Amino acid sequence: MQSKPQRQVPQEPIITQDLWELVQTHVNSRKRSRKDDEPQIFAGLLRCGECGWTLGSANTKDKGRFYRCTQYSAYGRNFCTMHYTPYKILYAFVLGRLQFWLMAVKENEDAILERLLQGSEKQRRSENARAEKELKKAQKRRQELDNLFAKMYEDRVKGLLDEENYSMLSVKYRTEQQQLDETVKTITARMEETKEETDDAKRWVELIQKYSAIDELTAPLLNELIEKIVVHQSWKDENGKTVRDIEIYYRFVGKID
Ligand SMILES: [Zn+2]
Repeated sequence: MQSKPQRQVPQEPIITQDLWELVQTHVNSRKRSRKDDEPQIFAGLLRCGECGWTLGSANTKDKGRFYRCTQYSAYGRNFCTMHYTPYKILYAFVLGRLQFWLMAVKENEDAILERLLQGSEKQRRSENARAEKELKKAQKRRQELDNLFAKMYEDRVKGLLDEENYSMLSVKYRTEQQQLDETVKTITARMEETKEETDDAKRWVELIQKYSAIDELTAPLLNELIEKIVVHQSWKDENGKTVRDIEIYYRFVGKID
């Protein structure tokens, strides 16, 4: 139903020879040690990049274990494409990314936090200071308006202000009041959001830092660090080479590769 996805191919992820060999060893030893040969470590994490259904696993003699779109499996190619993804490739890719991030975090935690937050801590602090200033200004004006209202009411009672002017000023001040309330709400929400983002990034960095090394993938590890893995339909480039686009969405921080 669709040929070549329009998405950009992620530039970085490379499966090195060492990593590939490590994965082979891992996959083979697992095969030997487990009769059922059902490595379900990715269960619940895989999504089809085109239709959003889950990917299910299958195992054939010639192809080995692989994943495919469950909508395609159930309803055929009028509904989605196969999204054929060998277990070994997925395993190597995800392991490579986690190893990359663990190494990066260990090397320079601040830089990674900065990258995750797309802006330096300093910049965020100055933004926060600006927001606080804006907030104070709005709150001060809000107080002034309350005083003006009281004064206006007084003047009206004393007969210093006629009905027409009183109504006109009332409307004017009330409108400004509402705008200020809106402004205060927006600034407060923005400040909270920034704080949450910072907390989330720190949480993820802490999670991955717990590991001294990541040599193999397990379900608990994957579920702790990853929210979902979106697999797009592969395609062939000009040289006939299969190109895969696999997106990892990490917990708390989303897509960061
Ligand atoms: Zn699909």
